[in-house]
Amino acid sequence: MEITSFEQFELNRQLLNAVADLGYTEPTPIQQKTIPLSLGNHDVLGIAQTGTGKTAAYLLPLLMKVKYAQGNSPRALILAPTRELVMQINEAVGELGKYTDLRHLALYGGLGPKTQIETLRKGVDLLVTTPGRFMDLYRLGEIVTKDIRTMVLDEADKMMDMGFMPQIRSILEVIPTKRQNLLFSATFGGRVERLSAEFLEAPVKVEVTPQASTADMVNQVIYEVPNFRTKINLLDYLISKDTFQRVIIFARSKSNAENIYKFLARKVVETAQIRVIHANKGQNTRINAMDAFKEGNVQVLVATDVAARGIDVAQVSHVINFDLPLIYEDYVHRIGRTGRANHTGEAITFLTMAEEYHVQKIEKIIRMTIPRQPLPPQVEVAETPFDEQQEMLRSVDEQRRKEDPTFLGAFHEKKAKNLPGGKDRLKIKAKLPGTKKTSSQASGGRSGGASRKTGSAKGASTGSSKRPSSRGGHR
Ligand code: AMP
Repeated sequence: MEITSFEQFELNRQLLNAVADLGYTEPTPIQQKTIPLSLGNHDVLGIAQTGTGKTAAYLLPLLMKVKYAQGNSPRALILAPTRELVMQINEAVGELGKYTDLRHLALYGGLGPKTQIETLRKGVDLLVTTPGRFMDLYRLGEIVTKDIRTMVLDEADKMMDMGFMPQIRSILEVIPTKRQNLLFSATFGGRVERLSAEFLEAPVKVEVTPQASTADMVNQVIYEVPNFRTKINLLDYLISKDTFQRVIIFARSKSNAENIYKFLARKVVETAQIRVIHANKGQNTRINAMDAFKEGNVQVLVATDVAARGIDVAQVSHVINFDLPLIYEDYVHRIGRTGRANHTGEAITFLTMAEEYHVQKIEKIIRMTIPRQPLPPQVEVAETPFDEQQEMLRSVDEQRRKEDPTFLGAFHEKKAKNLPGGKDRLKIKAKLPGTKKTSSQASGGRSGGASRKTGSAKGASTGSSKRPSSRGGHR
C-alpha cells in the first residue's frame, strides 16, 4: 500500500496534530519506509542523509512508543555526534512532542553539567545526548539506564569518524540488552556495516538514496581559483549578489573560518549580518549564532564541518565550500544544507590546484562530475604569493606520493626540502644553486617583504617539524 499521508501510520492524535502544525503534508520516502517498521518494533538500519526527513522518521515511532511522562528514568536514548545536532534533535522532539507531556533533555559537553544534572534528577522520559557526556553523567551516577527500551544512533558514520566507538561500546554495556535499536547513517561502508552487526538485531535496512548521493535539488558548481586571495575576491563578489540571501560558508579549519569571517565583517556585509562558528567558540556564542541564522536575522554563517554538523535551517540559498572538507563524505553533508524539502539550492565550490586531488575523490563518492564555470570577469585574480605557491606544490607532491609511493617528488619539492626556513633560509637560499627562479618568483608575488617574511617563518615551523634533519644537512 502506498503511503501518502501521516494518517496512514498508526500514530496518535497528539503526534498527527504536531506533524500538521509543522506543515508536513506527506511523509518523505525514509518516513514512508521506516515508520511502519519501527512501529512494528523492528531494528532498523536507515541510510539517509540530513535533509531527507530522517529525524522525524525515527522520532515519530519513538514518541508513539514512549507516549507520556512516566517514572523518573529515561526510556529512550538518542545518540548523536555533536552538540549542535543533539540540540537540533532535541528541538525536533519538542516540536513533534508538543501535545504530549513527555520530558526530554539534551546532554552535551562544552558547559558545566549542573543544570543538566538538576533536570535529570527531576525525571526525564527521553534523552538526546553525545556519547561522551552520557558516559560522564552515567559514571557520576546521574543516569539510571534500567528503563531504556529504545536506542537511536544518529549519524553513525560521523560518530565513527569522530572516534566515538569506545564510548558507544561502553554505553552498550550499561544499557539493557532487550531493546529496540535504530541506526541512521548518511553513508554505508565497512565500518557502519560492522557497527550495525554489533549493535542491531536482525535489522531491516532501508536506503532512500544511493550511498552518499547528493541531493537532487542541489545545483553544484566549481570555480577554479589560483589562491586564497582570489577565493576571498570571489566570495566578495558572490555575497554581494541579491540572491545570496542565506548562505553557509564552509571552511576547512578554525583559522580559515576566522579569516573569512574577519574579511567579510570588515569589507562586505554588515557585522550584524554575519556569524562564525567553530570549536573554539564558546557554547553560548555558537547557540546564539545558530539561532540568529535560523531565524533569518543573519545572512551569512561561516562554519567548520564539525561545528556545522547537522545544522538544520530551512531554505539555505547557497552553500559555499570555501575549502573542500578533509573528510570527503562531509561534502555530501555540507551541500545537504541547501536544496531541502522542495527548495532548489546551490552549492558552490572554490577549488585551487592543490584541491583537485580531493575533488576527484569526492566526485567518485557522489558518482558525478561537478560542472565547472569560469570565474566571473568581475572577480580580480590575485597573484599567488611565493609561500602559498610552495605549499600548494608540496601538497600536490604529497598527493602524488599517496597514489604512487615510489614518486620522489618534483623539482620544487626537493628544493623545498633544502630550505629550512626563517632567516637562515634566506641566507642558504642565496648559496644554493638553482634558487634564482625561486627568488624572482618570490618578488613576482608582490606580496611585499613583510608578508614574505611571515610566510617564511611559517615555513620554518612546518619545515622543522616535518624534516628535522634537513637543516643539519646543509651545514
Ligand atoms: P532531517 O533530514 O531530519 O534533518 O529533516 C530535514 C528537514 O525536513 C527538516 O527541516 C524537517 O523539519 C523537514 N521535514 C521532515 N519531514 C518532513 C515532511 N514529511 N514534509 C516536509 N518537511 C519535512
